[in-house]
Amino acid sequence: MSKNKDIPSDHKSSATEVVHSGRNPFEHHGFVNVPVYRGSTVLFPNLETLEKQSQTFTYARHGTPTVRALEDAISQLEFGHATKLTPSGYQAITTAILAFVESGQHILVTDNVYEPTRHFCDYILKRMGIETEYYDPLIGSGIAQLVRPNTSLIYVESPGSLTFEIQDIPAIAKVAHEKNLWLIADNTWATPLFCNPLTLGADVSIHSATKYLVGHADALLGTITSNERASKHLEKAYRTLGVCAGSEEIFLGLRGLRTLSVRLEKHQNTGLELAQWLSARSEILNVIHPALPSHKQHLVWKRDFKGSNGLFTVILKPVPKTALAAFLDGLKVFTMGFSWGGFESLVIPFNTSKCRTATSWKIDGQ
Ligand SMILES: *Cc1c(COP(=O)(O)O)cnc(C)c1O
Repeated sequence: MSKNKDIPSDHKSSATEVVHSGRNPFEHHGFVNVPVYRGSTVLFPNLETLEKQSQTFTYARHGTPTVRALEDAISQLEFGHATKLTPSGYQAITTAILAFVESGQHILVTDNVYEPTRHFCDYILKRMGIETEYYDPLIGSGIAQLVRPNTSLIYVESPGSLTFEIQDIPAIAKVAHEKNLWLIADNTWATPLFCNPLTLGADVSIHSATKYLVGHADALLGTITSNERASKHLEKAYRTLGVCAGSEEIFLGLRGLRTLSVRLEKHQNTGLELAQWLSARSEILNVIHPALPSHKQHLVWKRDFKGSNGLFTVILKPVPKTALAAFLDGLKVFTMGFSWGGFESLVIPFNTSKCRTATSWKIDGQ
Protein backbone atom coordinates (compact mmCIF):
# COMPACT_ATOMS: atom_id res chain seq x y z
CA MET A 1 0.00 0.00 0.00
CA SER A 2 1.28 3.42 -0.90
CA LYS A 3 0.13 5.15 2.26
CA ASN A 4 1.55 8.53 3.16
CA LYS A 5 4.06 7.72 5.85
CA ASP A 6 4.20 11.20 7.37
CA ILE A 7 0.90 10.91 9.21
CA PRO A 8 0.65 8.28 11.95
CA SER A 9 -2.44 6.22 11.23
CA ASP A 10 -3.98 6.81 14.67
CA HIS A 11 -3.96 10.57 13.99
CA LYS A 12 -5.84 10.44 10.73
CA SER A 13 -9.38 11.61 10.57
CA SER A 14 -11.40 10.40 7.59
CA ALA A 15 -11.24 13.90 6.10
CA THR A 16 -7.45 13.69 6.17
CA GLU A 17 -7.49 10.18 4.77
CA VAL A 18 -9.52 11.10 1.69
CA VAL A 19 -6.77 13.54 0.82
CA HIS A 20 -3.81 11.26 1.55
CA SER A 21 -4.97 7.70 0.98
CA GLY A 22 -3.71 5.67 -1.98
CA ARG A 23 -0.90 7.98 -3.02
CA ASN A 24 2.75 8.53 -2.39
CA PRO A 25 3.94 11.43 -4.56
CA PHE A 26 7.57 10.42 -4.17
CA GLU A 27 6.90 7.20 -6.05
CA HIS A 28 6.04 9.51 -8.98
CA HIS A 29 8.86 12.05 -8.98
CA GLY A 30 7.01 14.20 -6.45
CA PHE A 31 3.94 14.77 -8.61
CA VAL A 32 0.91 15.15 -6.39
CA ASN A 33 -1.46 12.89 -8.35
CA VAL A 34 -0.95 9.31 -9.45
CA PRO A 35 -0.55 9.41 -13.26
CA VAL A 36 -3.08 7.76 -15.56
CA TYR A 37 -1.30 4.61 -16.73
CA ARG A 38 -2.69 3.72 -20.13
CA GLY A 39 -1.84 0.30 -21.40
CA SER A 40 -2.64 -3.28 -22.11
CA THR A 41 0.72 -5.03 -22.39
CA VAL A 42 3.20 -5.04 -19.54
CA LEU A 43 6.75 -6.05 -20.50
CA PHE A 44 8.88 -8.60 -18.67
CA PRO A 45 12.65 -8.11 -18.56
CA ASN A 46 13.58 -11.82 -18.68
CA LEU A 47 12.21 -15.37 -18.77
CA GLU A 48 12.46 -15.91 -15.04
CA THR A 49 10.25 -12.90 -14.26
CA LEU A 50 7.75 -13.96 -16.89
CA GLU A 51 7.54 -17.55 -15.65
CA LYS A 52 7.26 -16.62 -11.99
CA GLN A 53 4.97 -13.64 -12.72
CA SER A 54 7.09 -12.01 -10.06
CA GLN A 55 6.61 -8.36 -10.97
CA THR A 56 3.85 -6.26 -9.42
CA PHE A 57 1.99 -5.72 -12.70
CA THR A 58 1.59 -8.39 -15.38
CA TYR A 59 -1.26 -7.26 -17.63
CA ALA A 60 -3.44 -4.14 -17.47
CA ARG A 61 -6.66 -6.10 -16.92
CA HIS A 62 -5.13 -7.28 -13.63
CA GLY A 63 -4.18 -3.79 -12.49
CA THR A 64 -2.02 -0.73 -13.06
CA PRO A 65 -0.55 1.76 -10.57
CA THR A 66 -3.61 4.00 -11.20
CA VAL A 67 -5.96 1.10 -10.39
CA ARG A 68 -3.97 0.20 -7.28
CA ALA A 69 -4.08 3.80 -6.02
CA LEU A 70 -7.89 3.94 -5.92
CA GLU A 71 -8.19 0.36 -4.66
CA ASP A 72 -5.83 1.12 -1.77
CA ALA A 73 -7.59 4.38 -0.94
CA ILE A 74 -11.04 2.76 -0.78
CA SER A 75 -9.74 -0.23 1.19
CA GLN A 76 -8.27 2.15 3.74
CA LEU A 77 -11.43 4.28 4.01
CA GLU A 78 -13.71 1.21 4.22
CA PHE A 79 -11.48 -0.70 6.68
CA GLY A 80 -11.28 -3.52 4.13
CA HIS A 81 -8.69 -6.08 3.13
CA ALA A 82 -8.99 -5.53 -0.64
CA THR A 83 -10.92 -3.46 -3.19
CA LYS A 84 -11.80 -4.17 -6.82
CA LEU A 85 -12.92 -1.54 -9.34
CA THR A 86 -15.73 -2.06 -11.83
CA PRO A 87 -17.00 -0.08 -14.86
CA SER A 88 -20.21 0.82 -13.00
CA GLY A 89 -21.81 0.52 -9.59
CA TYR A 90 -24.24 -1.97 -11.03
CA GLN A 91 -21.45 -4.24 -12.18
CA ALA A 92 -19.91 -4.05 -8.71
CA ILE A 93 -23.20 -5.51 -7.44
CA THR A 94 -23.48 -8.28 -10.04
CA THR A 95 -19.81 -9.27 -9.69
CA ALA A 96 -20.01 -9.39 -5.90
CA ILE A 97 -23.17 -11.52 -5.89
CA LEU A 98 -21.76 -13.92 -8.52
CA ALA A 99 -18.66 -14.43 -6.36
CA PHE A 100 -20.70 -16.12 -3.63
CA VAL A 101 -23.46 -18.13 -5.32
CA GLU A 102 -23.87 -21.38 -7.18
CA SER A 103 -26.71 -23.29 -8.76
CA GLY A 104 -29.27 -24.65 -6.30
CA GLN A 105 -28.69 -21.99 -3.67
CA HIS A 106 -31.01 -19.42 -2.12
CA ILE A 107 -30.23 -15.77 -1.33
CA LEU A 108 -31.97 -13.13 0.78
CA VAL A 109 -32.28 -9.62 -0.68
CA THR A 110 -33.86 -6.56 0.93
CA ASP A 111 -37.20 -5.57 -0.62
CA ASN A 112 -36.15 -1.92 -1.08
CA VAL A 113 -33.07 -2.83 -3.12
CA TYR A 114 -31.87 -0.68 -6.04
CA GLU A 115 -34.14 -1.84 -8.84
CA PRO A 116 -31.57 -3.14 -11.35
CA THR A 117 -30.22 -5.41 -8.59
CA ARG A 118 -33.69 -6.95 -8.43
CA HIS A 119 -33.64 -7.44 -12.22
CA PHE A 120 -30.28 -9.21 -11.99
CA CYS A 121 -31.61 -11.60 -9.34
CA ASP A 122 -34.91 -12.24 -11.11
CA TYR A 123 -33.37 -12.67 -14.57
CA ILE A 124 -29.74 -13.89 -14.43
CA LEU A 125 -29.70 -15.67 -11.06
CA LYS A 126 -33.01 -17.33 -11.76
CA ARG A 127 -31.65 -18.74 -15.03
CA MET A 128 -28.70 -20.11 -13.07
CA GLY A 129 -31.05 -21.95 -10.73
CA ILE A 130 -30.53 -19.60 -7.78
CA GLU A 131 -33.62 -18.53 -5.86
CA THR A 132 -33.94 -14.97 -4.57
CA GLU A 133 -36.21 -14.26 -1.62
CA TYR A 134 -36.97 -10.61 -0.83
CA TYR A 135 -37.33 -9.66 2.82
CA ASP A 136 -38.72 -6.76 4.84
CA PRO A 137 -35.91 -4.16 5.16
CA LEU A 138 -36.79 -3.75 8.85
CA ILE A 139 -36.57 -7.45 9.63
CA GLY A 140 -33.40 -7.15 11.76
CA SER A 141 -32.50 -10.36 13.61
CA GLY A 142 -35.81 -11.86 12.43
CA ILE A 143 -33.97 -12.72 9.22
CA ALA A 144 -32.79 -15.89 10.98
CA GLN A 145 -36.23 -17.36 10.31
CA LEU A 146 -35.76 -17.02 6.54
CA VAL A 147 -32.42 -18.79 6.41
CA ARG A 148 -32.57 -22.21 4.75
CA PRO A 149 -29.92 -24.95 4.59
CA ASN A 150 -29.06 -23.81 1.02
CA THR A 151 -28.94 -20.04 1.76
CA SER A 152 -25.59 -18.56 0.73
CA LEU A 153 -25.84 -14.83 1.26
CA ILE A 154 -27.77 -11.90 2.64
CA TYR A 155 -27.84 -8.63 0.73
CA VAL A 156 -28.53 -5.32 2.49
CA GLU A 157 -28.87 -1.76 1.21
CA SER A 158 -29.13 0.93 3.84
CA PRO A 159 -30.79 3.33 3.48
CA GLY A 160 -32.74 1.48 0.81
CA SER A 161 -33.32 3.02 -2.59
CA LEU A 162 -36.22 5.52 -2.75
CA THR A 163 -37.79 4.71 0.64
CA PHE A 164 -34.69 5.12 2.84
CA GLU A 165 -35.34 2.55 5.55
CA ILE A 166 -32.24 2.12 7.70
CA GLN A 167 -31.47 -1.56 8.16
CA ASP A 168 -30.11 -3.00 11.40
CA ILE A 169 -26.87 -4.21 9.80
CA PRO A 170 -25.23 -5.38 13.09
CA ALA A 171 -28.28 -7.56 13.91
CA ILE A 172 -28.35 -9.05 10.40
CA ALA A 173 -24.56 -9.55 10.49
CA LYS A 174 -24.87 -11.53 13.72
CA VAL A 175 -27.28 -13.94 12.04
CA ALA A 176 -25.07 -14.13 8.93
CA HIS A 177 -22.07 -15.12 11.04
CA GLU A 178 -23.98 -17.62 13.16
CA LYS A 179 -25.33 -19.32 10.03
CA ASN A 180 -22.06 -18.99 8.11
CA LEU A 181 -23.53 -16.83 5.31
CA TRP A 182 -21.94 -13.99 3.35
CA LEU A 183 -23.23 -10.48 3.99
CA ILE A 184 -23.02 -7.95 1.14
CA ALA A 185 -23.93 -4.27 1.62
CA ASP A 186 -24.66 -1.60 -0.97
CA ASN A 187 -23.14 1.37 0.87
CA THR A 188 -23.52 3.94 -1.93
CA TRP A 189 -25.69 6.43 -0.03
CA ALA A 190 -23.29 6.83 2.89
CA THR A 191 -20.01 6.92 0.92
CA PRO A 192 -17.00 5.42 2.74
CA LEU A 193 -16.99 8.53 4.95
CA PHE A 194 -20.33 8.12 6.70
CA CYS A 195 -20.77 4.36 7.13
CA ASN A 196 -18.43 1.37 7.02
CA PRO A 197 -20.46 -1.84 6.76
CA LEU A 198 -17.36 -4.02 7.26
CA THR A 199 -16.98 -2.60 10.77
CA LEU A 200 -20.68 -3.42 11.38
CA GLY A 201 -20.12 -7.07 10.40
CA ALA A 202 -20.61 -7.17 6.62
CA ASP A 203 -18.13 -9.11 4.45
CA VAL A 204 -18.43 -6.89 1.38
CA SER A 205 -19.20 -3.19 0.89
CA ILE A 206 -20.16 -1.89 -2.55
CA HIS A 207 -20.25 1.65 -3.90
CA SER A 208 -21.57 3.17 -7.04
CA ALA A 209 -18.59 5.55 -7.21
CA THR A 210 -20.54 7.21 -10.03
CA LYS A 211 -22.39 9.13 -7.31
CA TYR A 212 -20.60 11.19 -4.65
CA LEU A 213 -17.17 9.65 -5.11
CA VAL A 214 -16.70 10.78 -8.71
CA GLY A 215 -19.04 13.59 -7.78
CA HIS A 216 -19.29 15.48 -11.07
CA ALA A 217 -21.65 13.41 -13.25
CA ASP A 218 -18.83 12.74 -15.71
CA ALA A 219 -18.00 9.05 -15.20
CA LEU A 220 -19.44 5.67 -14.24
CA LEU A 221 -17.44 3.61 -11.74
CA GLY A 222 -17.98 1.00 -9.03
CA THR A 223 -16.01 -0.38 -6.10
CA ILE A 224 -16.18 -3.68 -4.16
CA THR A 225 -14.37 -3.81 -0.83
CA SER A 226 -14.09 -7.07 1.08
CA ASN A 227 -12.73 -8.43 4.31
CA GLU A 228 -9.99 -11.06 4.24
CA ARG A 229 -12.44 -13.99 4.36
CA ALA A 230 -14.37 -12.75 1.32
CA SER A 231 -11.53 -11.35 -0.76
CA LYS A 232 -10.26 -14.65 -2.21
CA HIS A 233 -13.71 -15.48 -3.61
CA LEU A 234 -14.11 -11.97 -4.98
CA GLU A 235 -10.70 -11.88 -6.60
CA LYS A 236 -11.41 -15.18 -8.31
CA ALA A 237 -14.85 -14.13 -9.65
CA TYR A 238 -13.58 -10.70 -10.70
CA ARG A 239 -10.67 -12.18 -12.68
CA THR A 240 -12.69 -14.99 -14.19
CA LEU A 241 -15.48 -12.69 -15.34
CA GLY A 242 -12.86 -10.40 -16.90
CA VAL A 243 -14.00 -7.27 -15.10
CA CYS A 244 -11.83 -4.14 -15.10
CA ALA A 245 -12.49 -0.40 -15.07
CA GLY A 246 -11.21 2.27 -17.49
CA SER A 247 -8.16 4.29 -16.49
CA GLU A 248 -9.74 7.67 -17.22
CA GLU A 249 -12.74 6.86 -15.01
CA ILE A 250 -10.44 5.68 -12.22
CA PHE A 251 -8.52 8.93 -12.45
CA LEU A 252 -11.81 10.84 -12.12
CA GLY A 253 -12.60 8.67 -9.09
CA LEU A 254 -9.27 9.55 -7.48
CA ARG A 255 -9.77 13.20 -8.30
CA GLY A 256 -13.30 13.21 -6.87
CA LEU A 257 -12.15 11.44 -3.73
CA ARG A 258 -9.83 14.30 -2.74
CA THR A 259 -12.76 16.71 -2.32
CA LEU A 260 -15.33 14.19 -1.08
CA SER A 261 -15.25 15.40 2.49
CA VAL A 262 -15.81 19.09 1.71
CA ARG A 263 -18.48 18.36 -0.90
CA LEU A 264 -20.38 16.05 1.43
CA GLU A 265 -20.42 18.63 4.17
CA LYS A 266 -22.16 21.06 1.84
CA HIS A 267 -24.49 18.34 0.48
CA GLN A 268 -25.60 17.24 3.93
CA ASN A 269 -26.15 20.77 5.24
CA THR A 270 -28.11 21.93 2.19
CA GLY A 271 -30.00 18.61 2.02
CA LEU A 272 -31.16 18.84 5.62
CA GLU A 273 -32.11 22.50 5.28
CA LEU A 274 -34.19 21.70 2.20
CA ALA A 275 -35.76 18.66 3.87
CA GLN A 276 -36.79 20.78 6.87
CA TRP A 277 -38.20 23.52 4.67
CA LEU A 278 -40.16 21.02 2.59
CA SER A 279 -41.50 19.28 5.73
CA ALA A 280 -43.27 22.51 6.69
CA ARG A 281 -44.95 23.03 3.29
CA SER A 282 -48.69 22.41 3.04
CA GLU A 283 -48.33 20.59 -0.34
CA ILE A 284 -46.15 17.90 1.27
CA LEU A 285 -47.36 14.78 3.04
CA ASN A 286 -43.99 13.61 4.31
CA VAL A 287 -40.26 13.95 3.84
CA ILE A 288 -38.15 10.83 4.27
CA HIS A 289 -34.62 11.84 5.21
CA PRO A 290 -32.60 9.76 7.70
CA ALA A 291 -31.18 12.86 9.42
CA LEU A 292 -34.65 14.21 10.27
CA PRO A 293 -35.68 13.20 13.82
CA SER A 294 -39.08 12.24 12.33
CA HIS A 295 -37.46 9.43 10.30
CA LYS A 296 -38.63 6.08 11.70
CA GLN A 297 -35.11 4.65 12.06
CA HIS A 298 -33.45 7.94 12.94
CA LEU A 299 -31.83 6.44 16.05
CA VAL A 300 -30.44 3.45 14.14
CA TRP A 301 -29.08 5.89 11.58
CA LYS A 302 -27.45 7.92 14.36
CA ARG A 303 -25.92 4.77 15.83
CA ASP A 304 -24.42 3.43 12.57
CA PHE A 305 -23.79 6.49 10.37
CA LYS A 306 -21.51 9.50 10.77
CA GLY A 307 -23.40 11.82 8.44
CA SER A 308 -26.04 12.24 5.77
CA ASN A 309 -26.19 13.81 2.32
CA GLY A 310 -28.45 15.51 -0.20
CA LEU A 311 -30.47 12.50 -1.40
CA PHE A 312 -33.93 12.08 0.11
CA THR A 313 -37.58 11.53 -0.78
CA VAL A 314 -40.50 13.96 -0.70
CA ILE A 315 -44.08 12.66 -0.76
CA LEU A 316 -46.57 15.06 -2.29
CA LYS A 317 -50.21 15.17 -1.30
CA PRO A 318 -52.27 13.54 -4.05
CA VAL A 319 -52.55 15.81 -7.10
CA PRO A 320 -53.72 15.29 -10.69
CA LYS A 321 -51.01 14.26 -13.16
CA THR A 322 -51.29 17.65 -14.90
CA ALA A 323 -50.42 19.42 -11.64
CA LEU A 324 -47.46 17.11 -11.08
CA ALA A 325 -46.23 17.79 -14.63
CA ALA A 326 -46.69 21.55 -14.15
CA PHE A 327 -44.62 21.37 -10.95
CA LEU A 328 -41.79 19.29 -12.43
CA ASP A 329 -41.71 21.14 -15.76
CA GLY A 330 -41.76 24.50 -13.98
CA LEU A 331 -38.73 23.92 -11.76
CA LYS A 332 -35.93 26.38 -12.51
CA VAL A 333 -32.93 25.08 -10.55
CA PHE A 334 -33.78 21.37 -10.38
CA THR A 335 -33.93 19.21 -13.50
CA MET A 336 -35.30 15.70 -13.96
CA GLY A 337 -32.63 13.06 -14.41
CA PHE A 338 -31.57 9.66 -13.09
CA SER A 339 -28.54 9.14 -10.90
CA TRP A 340 -27.34 11.54 -8.20
CA GLY A 341 -24.20 12.64 -6.36
CA GLY A 342 -22.99 15.28 -8.81
CA PHE A 343 -23.27 19.07 -8.55
CA GLU A 344 -26.57 19.19 -10.47
CA SER A 345 -29.77 19.54 -8.46
CA LEU A 346 -31.90 16.63 -9.62
CA VAL A 347 -35.44 15.43 -9.06
CA ILE A 348 -37.20 12.29 -10.25
CA PRO A 349 -40.84 11.19 -9.76
CA PHE A 350 -41.41 7.57 -8.80
CA ASN A 351 -43.98 5.09 -7.60
CA THR A 352 -42.76 2.44 -5.17
CA SER A 353 -45.79 0.20 -5.44
CA LYS A 354 -44.35 -1.44 -8.57
CA CYS A 355 -41.01 -2.47 -7.11
CA ARG A 356 -42.00 -4.29 -3.91
CA THR A 357 -42.82 -7.95 -3.67
CA ALA A 358 -42.30 -8.97 -0.02
CA THR A 359 -43.76 -5.93 1.73
CA SER A 360 -46.18 -3.16 0.92
CA TRP A 361 -45.15 0.41 1.43
CA LYS A 362 -47.70 2.90 2.74
CA ILE A 363 -47.71 6.08 0.71
CA ASP A 364 -47.22 8.41 3.70
CA GLY A 365 -44.19 6.41 4.71
CA GLN A 366 -45.49 6.02 8.25
C1 LIG B 1 -26.82 4.36 -8.79
C2 LIG B 1 -26.79 3.24 -7.86
C3 LIG B 1 -26.21 2.02 -8.23
C4 LIG B 1 -25.66 1.74 -9.62
O1 LIG B 1 -24.62 2.56 -9.97
P1 LIG B 1 -24.15 2.85 -11.49
O2 LIG B 1 -22.77 3.36 -11.28
O3 LIG B 1 -25.12 3.83 -12.05
O4 LIG B 1 -24.17 1.54 -12.21
C5 LIG B 1 -26.18 1.02 -7.28
N1 LIG B 1 -26.70 1.18 -6.05
C6 LIG B 1 -27.28 2.34 -5.67
C7 LIG B 1 -27.84 2.46 -4.29
C8 LIG B 1 -27.35 3.40 -6.56
O5 LIG B 1 -27.95 4.54 -6.20
